[in-house]
Formats: sequence, C-alpha cells, structure tokens
Amino acid sequence: MIKYALICDADHEFESWFPDSASYDKQAKRGLVTCPFCDSVKVSKAIMSPNVARKDKDRLAVAASDETPAQPAAPAQNIALLDEQQQQLRGMIRELHEKIVASTDDVGENFPEEARKMHDGETPARSIRGKASFEEARELLEDGIPVLPIPDLPEERN
Ligand SMILES: [Zn+2]
Repeated sequence: MIKYALICDADHEFESWFPDSASYDKQAKRGLVTCPFCDSVKVSKAIMSPNVARKDKDRLAVAASDETPAQPAAPAQNIALLDEQQQQLRGMIRELHEKIVASTDDVGENFPEEARKMHDGETPARSIRGKASFEEARELLEDGIPVLPIPDLPEERN
C-alpha cells in the first residue's frame, strides 16, 4: 500500500491509499480518482516542491505508468533527518541533565557560597548543583572553581 497526497484542479488537498504506484496511475487515467470535496477527476499528486509537482502532472498527462517515480521525497527526507538529529541531541541533553541531577546535591541559591567553601577546604568536597547568576558563575571560574552550566530542558516545566 502506498499513500499519496493528492490535489484536484480546485486546489483541494486530500490523501488516498493505493496498492502501488502503478494502480494509482491506472485509476487516475480512467478518472477513478476523484476529489472527495468536489468530485473533480482532475486530480494529481500533491508534492512539496511546485517544480516537482508540475513535472509529475506532465508525466500523467503524457501517460506511461511504468516509469519509476521521480524523487519527490528528497526535500522531505532532509527535514526528517534534521528532526531526528534534534531528537537525538535532545535525548543526549536529557541524559546529561539526568546524570548531573542524579550525582549532585542540590544546594539551590547557596551554590556560589557552597562551591567557594568547598574550594577553600571549609567543607568536604562533593558534587553539588544549584543556582548561580552568570556573574557569580564567571567569578567562580575566575577563582579556579570548575563550575559547569547544566543544560536546560526545553520541555521541562518547573
Ligand atoms: Zn476538489
């Protein structure tokens, strides 16, 4: 089965399933593919890029159904790939975030103070997390205290 995004000559867009691309071509040639909105039989495949769509229409008009379809999926694939990468990245950020959260004590607003105390040997060293302003974080780094920003989770609600 193959799903086509179709468009009629009145610009109604709809989707329809066909056993394969050849049977779509056959049905379209016989006028069996109709628009569900206006019953128009002047239906063609709707494809992202207008250039490709026009090419496809020409091909249908000239007939010959056994042609291998052009590659209308190419632009869409690029988008899909980006999404996948973003999802992977998001997963990595989430994992990192969870690891940091799991292995540190939350000291909240006291973070700069606690970090400094540990650095000065006043309290035993441990891993802590908390809140610091950009300025405070910069000061800690300048004093040789290795602090690290925890990545934000975009979907997380506080
Ligand atoms: Zn229509």
